[in-house]
Amino acid sequence: MGYIIHYDIAAIFVCIVINVLYFSKKRFATKANRYFEIMCVLVAVATVTDTISVYTITHADTFPIVLNYIINGLFFLSFNTLQIVYFRFMVTITGYDTGKIGKVINVVTITVFLYLLFVVFFTPLTGHAFSFKNGVYHQGMLLPSLYIVAYVMLASCILLVMFSRLHLTLFQRFSSFAVIITSTAFVVLQFVIPNLLISNFAASLLLVVLYHSLQNPDEYLERDLKVFNQKAFLEYTERLFKADKKFSVLAFDMEGFAFVDQYMGVETGNELLLKVVDECKEARKGELYFLGGTQFVYICEKGEKEVSQHAEWLRWRFLTPFMIKDKKVNLTIHLCCIHCPEVAKTGEQIMTSVDLSLAECKRNNCNELFYATAETIEKGQRVSKITHILQRAIQKDEFMVFFQPIYSAKDHDFTVAEALVRLKDEEMGFIPPGEFIPIAEESGLILEIGEIVFRKVCEFIASGALRAFNIRYIEVNLSMVQCMQENLHTRMIEIMDEHKIPYNMIDFEITETSMNTNNKLLHHNMKNLIECGCTFAADDFGTGLSNADYLIKFPFEVVKLDRMFVKAANEDDKAQKVLFHTASMIGSLELKIVAEGVETKEQAESLLDVGCEFLQGFYFSPPIPPEEYIAFLTKSSEFLKEKMAFVDAK
Ligand code: C2E
Ligand code: CA
Ligand code: CA
Repeated sequence: MGYIIHYDIAAIFVCIVINVLYFSKKRFATKANRYFEIMCVLVAVATVTDTISVYTITHADTFPIVLNYIINGLFFLSFNTLQIVYFRFMVTITGYDTGKIGKVINVVTITVFLYLLFVVFFTPLTGHAFSFKNGVYHQGMLLPSLYIVAYVMLASCILLVMFSRLHLTLFQRFSSFAVIITSTAFVVLQFVIPNLLISNFAASLLLVVLYHSLQNPDEYLERDLKVFNQKAFLEYTERLFKADKKFSVLAFDMEGFAFVDQYMGVETGNELLLKVVDECKEARKGELYFLGGTQFVYICEKGEKEVSQHAEWLRWRFLTPFMIKDKKVNLTIHLCCIHCPEVAKTGEQIMTSVDLSLAECKRNNCNELFYATAETIEKGQRVSKITHILQRAIQKDEFMVFFQPIYSAKDHDFTVAEALVRLKDEEMGFIPPGEFIPIAEESGLILEIGEIVFRKVCEFIASGALRAFNIRYIEVNLSMVQCMQENLHTRMIEIMDEHKIPYNMIDFEITETSMNTNNKLLHHNMKNLIECGCTFAADDFGTGLSNADYLIKFPFEVVKLDRMFVKAANEDDKAQKVLFHTASMIGSLELKIVAEGVETKEQAESLLDVGCEFLQGFYFSPPIPPEEYIAFLTKSSEFLKEKMAFVDAK
């Protein structure tokens, strides 16, 4: 019988190409990948042994019989194991590899494999698969059973694809069906026409289709950096979660690339990133995953020691600059660790906690290892909820502005007020600005909110409601992010012009953080607004690192003593002395002082004594809606009689 071996020879070439393509690339260690690797080897062995066996079978009378059994045995073993491995591959891809079904499938496939092994191994004695009689090759009586097994495996794959637990794309479904149906047809064809060696060709085609539709390693790679991508990370962690494994994720992000991109070009920035990644890959054993931007993670399965070793090395490495184009570039690293499943229970949750933790590190300018906790996630969820509410409030005009009356000793009346933004959500109630302003600053929404608040203040002034009350000006808070806008002054002037309000009706409050960021822009904005007639107040003076330096550098007219400073002075003699000297220092600079957080008569008295010209606090009124504020002003004389009688008495 003459064999038609052309398909086998073609199969050898196809097999070589696929093996080279697949094994030359960085591969991602999933279960499915391991099966695919085994399939590549099995197809190679089956194709080569089948081709050789054509010669050894036709020359069985002269070829050593032992070798003939080995070659043919290897072929049967590899070709039939291929069906089993392919079946298991499809089980994994479709998500049936876990739980009870997974266990049953395990038992069934192992039994089938043992049966196959038994049949092939004992064939030289029993002739069950094949035999050589008088130098002629004969098919054995159990050979059809091997074909049946292969056929059943392939048919089961159709069911798996149809009822897949995991999402397969249309292309993946279509190609799986196509592969299964053609392979089945080829198996049948080979059975009917035994001298047509076509099954291996079918098997090599199977590899080609799988490589393209289900198994392309590029899918898991970040091409330029040659590290695994987010998809790989999510798939791998999902497997760890499914297997109930404990592990930690060490994530890091780097700052300094924006600078390189800006001054040396984006290409140099990318080159630098590649360099950093290469160094990490070389120095550390663990697998690095790229999550996007400049964020990377290591998955540590060996416990805390592995985490701290990676973290220590990274911190140490980033202490020295990186060289790029003969220039030294300093990069700052932020590190966080997420324990799984204690802190995060899904890949998505890990990604969220990584984002939140690294944002926290950046905010605190911290390069220590930050351990995420359940609260980190909770906080993150709250932040995203509030961001959502802010966006809706901007669209639906839901922000309100309240006014807090400020007592002026000179006028002996409430001739100033501070405008404070308010936001109410149906579910969360009033959200304090102390919470939502930083969130708005981080997301950039503060620019729109700042304008909305300013518009509302201008509308209120323009409405004429204040005309009867000799109000000197309204204090409006400006956020650091607003102060960094080059066109801040033009926008503010435009809005004031739109409402035709006098510029000197506005006093802008800015905090010290604004003064640390971009001095030039802030000076530029202040200068232009002051030239029009607006004034500026230094807010929250006496907190944190605030010092007299910026009172000298920036053209303020008012200084607002922080509530905590005022509180401390009330409780402690030393703090009282500091407040006294601070007040006289500010006075000597000919700046007006507003004391914030005045809650008692005693405080009011002593603050006036040390030279505070303005008092603001709950002792007089909390921030109130515009109508209530007007009502308050209407009754202010009665109010002063009650609360400030001691002034009249003096
Ligand atoms: P701030 O500018 O220091 O505003 C004063 C805060 O102290 C207000 O809190 C006010 O309600 C509170 N306060 C006033 N008197 C007393 C008192 O006697 N005792 C106590 N315990 N607190 C008093 P609020 O309205 O919650 O605002 C918090 C912060 O949010 C503000 O601090 C300001 O930094 C920011 N903020 C509020 N509105 C705006 C706004 O429209 N724009 C910007 N950029 N920030 C705003
Ligand atoms: Ca303020
Ligand atoms: Ca303040």
